[in-house]
Amino acid sequence: MSDLLGRRIEAKREDLVALTQDLVRIPTVNPPGEAYRPCAEFIGRRLSQCGFEVSYHRAEGEIGDSDRYPRTNVVARREGRGPGPCVHFNGHIDVVAPGEGWTLDPFGGEVRNGKIYGRGTCDMKGGLAAAVVAVEALLEEVPDLPGALEISGTVDEESGGFGGVAYLARKGFFSKPRVDHVIIPEPLNVDRVCLGHRGVWWAEIETKGHIAHGSMPFLGDCAVRHMGAFLSRLESELYPKLAAKRTEMPVVPEGARQSTLNINSLHGGLQEGHDGLPAPLVPDSCRMVIDRRFLIEESLEVVKQEVVGILEAMREDRERFDYSIKDLMEVHPLMTDADMPVVRSVSAEIEKVLGRPAQHIVSPGTYDQKHVTRIGHLKDCIAYGPGILDLAHQPDEFIVIDDMVASAKVMAGAARTLLTGAHA
Ligand SMILES: [Zn+2]
Repeated sequence: MSDLLGRRIEAKREDLVALTQDLVRIPTVNPPGEAYRPCAEFIGRRLSQCGFEVSYHRAEGEIGDSDRYPRTNVVARREGRGPGPCVHFNGHIDVVAPGEGWTLDPFGGEVRNGKIYGRGTCDMKGGLAAAVVAVEALLEEVPDLPGALEISGTVDEESGGFGGVAYLARKGFFSKPRVDHVIIPEPLNVDRVCLGHRGVWWAEIETKGHIAHGSMPFLGDCAVRHMGAFLSRLESELYPKLAAKRTEMPVVPEGARQSTLNINSLHGGLQEGHDGLPAPLVPDSCRMVIDRRFLIEESLEVVKQEVVGILEAMREDRERFDYSIKDLMEVHPLMTDADMPVVRSVSAEIEKVLGRPAQHIVSPGTYDQKHVTRIGHLKDCIAYGPGILDLAHQPDEFIVIDDMVASAKVMAGAARTLLTGAHA
């Protein structure tokens, strides 16, 4: 039985390649959110041909949504013969801008040496195509499956997922009793099951000063120097502390198995005056955006207090030091239990298809699983897909065709196990 399903997927290899190419050739670049509607409709047309009921959901009024750039999501559902759980595959249809350094057309979908090249092949149109072909093969092989299968193509994952999975989750699309198990084919390597991700806190810190003529800085108060003093306290006090915090989460790569803090941006003073010359002014404001990634062992409250504590201490220690801080984004860390059905069934299929045990990992960065868990309250969710993690967002991004075929076999086998209740 299992071999028959595998062989059926092998036979769809060319179809899987063509589907990936077709998806890559729709340039769904985000921002601003180009071509979402044609891409959603393309997926919808394909799935309606094999018995799926297809619906479109525009996240009207959400961030980025406009008539020019509608946030159009597609949800397709196929009821089985008889009662049973629902397995849902979710892929984001947006891709990041191609950027510089490409040697091939980023939207050409060119095939070379067993790989398909293009923006979004790896992250994650190749994974979405593999899920579609997996489901089609499974339905041909076992037409009387119980339960239900769903596939969604959602927008804006690269910019937070607010008009995509978060929007649908608020409408009940990622909750019981509608859905029981969710697989997100993000590129985390074909033999790895991703259980979740670290937490995120983004904040903007502003130091304040007083404007004066640049030739007489003693008459003003330089906000950039205040920020410089804060930066040096981060270096001496916070960074060593973060490096010492290790997590039990199996985060890959290894370097992300600790707390991290990136300084995303730093701006102070006027860039230049009207005539292109530097403006002779003492800057009265300096802004910095920080990106703190935290561990399941840490609380967001403590994470914030570590930064605010330094700023407050500086108010005492440093003359005329004044600041404000604004939260920009908060995401709690999450990690699905390795005993959950979706983890067990996908891991068992990886071992069967690839002949080696599945590795359980956690992603350094966040993705749409947060919305499924936090808004949909659905815990049986993982990321599993064929792309190579390190290639996401790179020039000359590609996907290995053999990996897509293998992952389609894993997804089809796992869905069959979950639907028929024969847990591995
Ligand atoms: Zn992605």
